[in-house]
Amino acid sequence: MEFKKLANYFQKIENASSRLDMTNILAELFAEADAKEIGKIIYLSQGELSAAYVGLESGMGESLIAEGVAKANGYSKEDVEKGYKDLGDLGLVAEKLAGNKKQRALFSSKLDVEKVFANFYKIANVEGGGSQQLKIKLFAELLNSASPVEAKFIARIPAGNMRLGIGDPTIMDAFAINLSDELRKNKKVIVELESELKEKKEEKRKTELDRKIKFRVRAMIEEKYNIHSDLGEIASILKGKGLKGLENVEITPGIPIRPTLAERLESTEKIVEKIGKCLVEAKYDGFRFQVHKKGEEVTIFSRQSENMTHMFPEIVEGAKKQINSKSAIIEGEALALDEHTGQYFPFQVTIQRKRKYDIDEKAKEFPLKLFAFDVMMVDGKNLMDTAFEKRRAALKKLIKKGDVIELTDGIVSDNPKEIDEYFETSIEKGLEGIIAKDLKAKYIAGARKFAWIKLKRSYKGELSDSVDVVIVGYFKGRGKRVQFGLGGLLTAVYDEDEDKFKSIAKVGTGISEDKMVELEKMLSKISSSKKPARVDSGIEPDIWVEPKYVIEVRADEITRSPTHTAGKKNDEGYALRFPRMISDRTKKPEEATSVKEILKMYKMQKHVQVED
Ligand code: AMP
Repeated sequence: MEFKKLANYFQKIENASSRLDMTNILAELFAEADAKEIGKIIYLSQGELSAAYVGLESGMGESLIAEGVAKANGYSKEDVEKGYKDLGDLGLVAEKLAGNKKQRALFSSKLDVEKVFANFYKIANVEGGGSQQLKIKLFAELLNSASPVEAKFIARIPAGNMRLGIGDPTIMDAFAINLSDELRKNKKVIVELESELKEKKEEKRKTELDRKIKFRVRAMIEEKYNIHSDLGEIASILKGKGLKGLENVEITPGIPIRPTLAERLESTEKIVEKIGKCLVEAKYDGFRFQVHKKGEEVTIFSRQSENMTHMFPEIVEGAKKQINSKSAIIEGEALALDEHTGQYFPFQVTIQRKRKYDIDEKAKEFPLKLFAFDVMMVDGKNLMDTAFEKRRAALKKLIKKGDVIELTDGIVSDNPKEIDEYFETSIEKGLEGIIAKDLKAKYIAGARKFAWIKLKRSYKGELSDSVDVVIVGYFKGRGKRVQFGLGGLLTAVYDEDEDKFKSIAKVGTGISEDKMVELEKMLSKISSSKKPARVDSGIEPDIWVEPKYVIEVRADEITRSPTHTAGKKNDEGYALRFPRMISDRTKKPEEATSVKEILKMYKMQKHVQVED
């Protein structure tokens, strides 16, 4: 595909005012692409150069990008930097300058997707002396041949920020539109879906059937994506072999599985009522790790499926020694333990291990232990559909005794009183609470079902749990805060059903002065001149931003609100009362707290006994 065509599609998506329009445009784009290029198109549309878990980056900061834009168009770097100050987006600067080139390249050729991708791939992989100059050269070579609209998107790629707001669910929905006709040919499925529609009125049946088919296709794609987090690869399978190709997508060591998530309930009675006899485990406050072993090769993925292997050498060594199989995928929580007292360090200590430099030094100072709690694969055998009870037994057999990995502590019980006592002891030990696990449940990738239920301590006058919200806009500082350029944040939670971000709170407290400056810098780079298509808000901030960053907030309670749109029904939504920022979260926006969770937390807060 010519890159110009792709850039025009990106432009249409940028102009789209609704999520539905965005999905339809993407479906049209995917229909035009072939199997070889579709993966690349998907990575580029999300500002990536590979599947997110690989974490391949261009290694070009703003300064190099500006230099490349200047070089390609015959301007000085200062001209570009001035334009950046005025327009706030190097993409817009590149677009403008490409329309007013001071110098024409001797050689310019038509760009196609393959060429653009190939150059960026090289840019990401060059190393050593002279690599910066080579990066600029490869980048400028593309801009030399680019029309203004192409230049705009080419210049946005190296910073990983396309400003299009395309999330994974939108991509999967677009495929579901295109592949519905294939499923329609499957008589068995159609008979099954039609039988579910018997009760519906005749005239409604056709649209309902269409909707159900689309849903089914979407579920088929998502099921595979959950065990194989590479939408680019899945897309090329779909283009090449259609839905049938999905049958061969398997769980693979080295490719992350989307983690299962915990539900909440407010008491141990409710937990036992819901899942009966369960394994109740201590809830450790550290990093969630998915550890993949394939021969001597060990990979560690974070909860957000980022590759963190190089940061935790002691876990890599521990996994090599203690995992007693050729290949395996296990999961656990890693945290620093004070060897002298036998106590767990608080999260503030463990988090110091997330760093790019002085890794070995810190690993000696605060070595981590991994408390393993699940196993999804052993020697090529997929255990995800096996009952948790059996997986746990397999895990016990798999892990040899050693210094780094041990199994989580827990009790099997169906007695709320006994579980309460276990909860109290865990809290005394400095743990966060407990997680009860359904002994019969499968490993549910990427979803929050009642396989796991968490119970955390509630503090006086606070919601028992924090909320992860997405920043969708900000307010310029007033009064003392004028100097920071930011006075507060407009935040939202995620509506899974609609794939939209709905406003829930204005957050102005808990942000230090340094943090305000840092946030303003980060957010101004993703500002948007209009409300992003997937944002739904009753409040208009001074500046809209693409939903990208997630922060953790605590609040006193959840209240009904006429202004916010989260969970809105009959003119009333939900809001956080006295929200305060606690920390940054490295989550994807779609992994923020969902509207459904907010509704549950709202109901729960009425029951919770406040403890001292
Ligand atoms: P939350 O992040 O509050 O929704 O709680 C779920 C998280 O608790 C998981 O993602 C894990 O990182 C963490 N966790 C700590 N201990 C355990 C455990 N024993 N089993 C499962 N998850 C645990």
